[in-house]
Amino acid sequence: MDYSYLSHLYCPKCQQTYSPAEPEHLCICGSPLLVAYDMERLSHSWSRDQLQTREPDLWRYHELLPLQDPTYKTSLGEGMTPLIPLPTLQANMNIHKLYMKDEGVIPTGSFKARGAAVGVSKAKELGVEELAMPTNGNAGAAWSLYAARASLKSTIVMPVDAPKITRNECALSGANLFLVDGLISDAGQIVAKAVKQSGLYDVSTLKEPYRIEGKKTMGLEIAEQLGWRVPDVILYPTGGGVGLIGIYKALKELQQLGWIAKDQMPKLVAVQSEGCKPIVEAWEKGLKESTFWPNSETVAFGINVPKAIGDFLVLEALYETEGCAVSIDDTSLLEEQKHITQTEGVFVCPEGAAAFSAARKLRSEGWITEEDEVVVLNTGAGIKYPDTVKMEVPVLNPGDTIKTKV
Ligand SMILES: *Cc1c(COP(=O)(O)O)cnc(C)c1O
Ligand SMILES: [Zn+2]
Repeated sequence: MDYSYLSHLYCPKCQQTYSPAEPEHLCICGSPLLVAYDMERLSHSWSRDQLQTREPDLWRYHELLPLQDPTYKTSLGEGMTPLIPLPTLQANMNIHKLYMKDEGVIPTGSFKARGAAVGVSKAKELGVEELAMPTNGNAGAAWSLYAARASLKSTIVMPVDAPKITRNECALSGANLFLVDGLISDAGQIVAKAVKQSGLYDVSTLKEPYRIEGKKTMGLEIAEQLGWRVPDVILYPTGGGVGLIGIYKALKELQQLGWIAKDQMPKLVAVQSEGCKPIVEAWEKGLKESTFWPNSETVAFGINVPKAIGDFLVLEALYETEGCAVSIDDTSLLEEQKHITQTEGVFVCPEGAAAFSAARKLRSEGWITEEDEVVVLNTGAGIKYPDTVKMEVPVLNPGDTIKTKV
């Protein structure tokens, strides 16, 4: 048995193929590259039963991951996050079954850890010594921390107003960290220049093919946790869309292996913010690609991506699964965040709250039906956003008496 059944890289736009033995970035046509496995051989040698004795982390699916030599595995125990039933919230929304896939409990506090674990491990295997990326915060934190774990160097550029906590994570990890007085797109240009000049390994979103493979494990886990079947609907807070592309890829691979039924595919929903909704706009117009969203703004900084390089793959997944794209304003998502915390005790991140708010909206419009089984991704921990929540709390003097309600 091979550790990985990695076969080759291919371009989903022009079908050009590439060898996985060399570091690769975009296709010559400009498209991101995807990873292909030897599914024929794998379906004969791998069975669901073999998973039963494996560790509860994402490496349990190593046959379907790109790392070929486990010596380079860089892990902090990421993956197999809980799929939590939400009885109070589901009754409140009048949805038959509602689950939270809770990525708030993963190392580095956001699901970016999945992409970083697999991406950094593969970079190490390919002989990379220093990686570089622009970030809005969580990705830079995850990649610089996993780079530290793998003894790789990292150069990170983020906007000055990216959340301070992610800035501290990068700085503390020993990354070569820079702030730019501008947007993530400005950070991207600076990184691109540095990559060209010094040969740093560019790990910008979808500019290396392995981050998707890490994120697709969310799809593998959801299917396994439901007993090898899929829900009716999956809602995902969408920035670059890597997670959504990954979940779709994972479920198609499970169909190919025969681990889930061939006609089983959930409707995939891309959730964006009112202040940055290029995918929603493109989906509403039935377009195959999105256009740059100017002056984007939202408290859910993880989904503040005005133009995603993989937008055509996100839209294809929405069309193919008969899903949809929805936007939520900041006031509604903050309301929902409070509501979830009060009813279910999970302090979700603003991006996750947006996805729950979208479930509520789609249910009230009848798009989600009363019978549906729905999974919502909470992509990170609320505690990473200390300044987003503003509450008034009474201050007592020593010796004061508290007025109780009972
Ligand atoms: C990055 C991020 C997202 C968006 O992820 P994509 O896969 O790039 O769409 C959502 N939520 C959080 C917390 C994030 O950090
Ligand atoms: Zn191509």
